[in-house]
Amino acid sequence: MSDEIIARAVADAGDTDVVDVGRGVASRAGGVIADALAKQPDGSLAPVLIVADENTWEAAGKTVAESFKAAGVPLTEPLIFPAHPIPYASLDNAHSIAERLLALDKETGAQVVPVAIGSGTMNDLTKLAAKDLGRRYAVVGTAASMDGYTGAGAPISDNGVKVTMNCVAPKVVVFDLDVAAAAPAAMTASGYGDLAAKIPGGADWILADATGVEPINDHVWELVQSGVHQALAHPDDLAAGIPEAYTGLVEGLILSGLAMQVYDGTRPASGAEHYFSHIWELGHLGADKEVPPSHGFKVAIGTLAMLAFYEKFLERDITALDIDAAVAKWPAWDAVEADIRSTFDGALADHAVAETRVKYVTPEELAARLQRIIDSWPKTLPRLREQLVPAREFAAKLAAAGAPHQPEDIGLTAADVKATFPKAMYYRSRYTVLDVAREAGWFDELVEEVFAPGGLWS
Ligand SMILES: [Zn+2]
Repeated sequence: MSDEIIARAVADAGDTDVVDVGRGVASRAGGVIADALAKQPDGSLAPVLIVADENTWEAAGKTVAESFKAAGVPLTEPLIFPAHPIPYASLDNAHSIAERLLALDKETGAQVVPVAIGSGTMNDLTKLAAKDLGRRYAVVGTAASMDGYTGAGAPISDNGVKVTMNCVAPKVVVFDLDVAAAAPAAMTASGYGDLAAKIPGGADWILADATGVEPINDHVWELVQSGVHQALAHPDDLAAGIPEAYTGLVEGLILSGLAMQVYDGTRPASGAEHYFSHIWELGHLGADKEVPPSHGFKVAIGTLAMLAFYEKFLERDITALDIDAAVAKWPAWDAVEADIRSTFDGALADHAVAETRVKYVTPEELAARLQRIIDSWPKTLPRLREQLVPAREFAAKLAAAGAPHQPEDIGLTAADVKATFPKAMYYRSRYTVLDVAREAGWFDELVEEVFAPGGLWS
């Protein structure tokens, strides 16, 4: 069933033309990639440059190199980054890949095809190098660690500031489930955390749809959501490294990236839970550690925070809301801006002011928006209930997957997570349940309730 969904996603995705997922597929990667990327008009095959680090070279690079040779593809000397210190997704490293490609072009008299072997950094670096040279690339995944494989963005550091560069997603994605199952357990746990985000993230989209702020695209929704609950159902099998258990996780992560391509935005893959992760990352959480918490680990805690918030939100009856009273309490923009500036420091405050301005409404618009939610509630509430899972239940699943399930697991306290809620609300223009709560006048109370005695992390 999911093969068919992936085929449909690929058909509609702008950038990715081939996705090959399965057990043992690394050994045929050379032929698959050559067919899609290396074939020249005269029938000859362009040379390939494999980009890996020492770990990903061992995990899959060697096998892929053999498969290129078997397919008769000219292989240049692979570019292998050292495993220690951990290679950085920096502009410099991306430039060095681009330079190597240009030098090889001259040497071989052909346009060399870049092939990334790896999950995060190798893919991001190669993606950026390929984009800078205006050429397409392929990626062979080595760990089910995040959903960026099939995405167009590359998070890259430039002088210590992390920016997501808008690139072009890979033309070919190969993912061998045996390789994924043999990857370090923490990487799989990280991917589990990133896929978990689709639960509260999907609920946020349901609310944005109900208010008319951002209607759901049914096709994209199905791509990203149809397999998520199933893929997250057996965390212990993933932690045990059982290859069959990886099908759902790997396909879920790939579909998430493809859905972003089809939708041309990140809404299908993320909601407010991701803003917790971004804000902690911007605060350099764990930067003093040898291995800082991964994206998926931070997202796991953001996901639990949002699931707990949704529980408190749904304990209230929005249809009983006094709209006039909510409108009377609605702050003027100047007051909102002042609050944002007291919540964030420096440049981040300017960013949050600009983002929040986009979703700020007049009192008249607020009344209409709240009325729309109330009118839609008989339909919206069952959709939310179907989408969401209890925070405590999901915390146990994350624990079984080996992923963080309490703030301390990523070096935070419950108080830190609590303090992140207003920031997550103001951080982006994307409309989430945090905005609905704010507009209903419930936000501060709900945050208090999440962290009150008897709560998930109290
Ligand atoms: Zn993510």
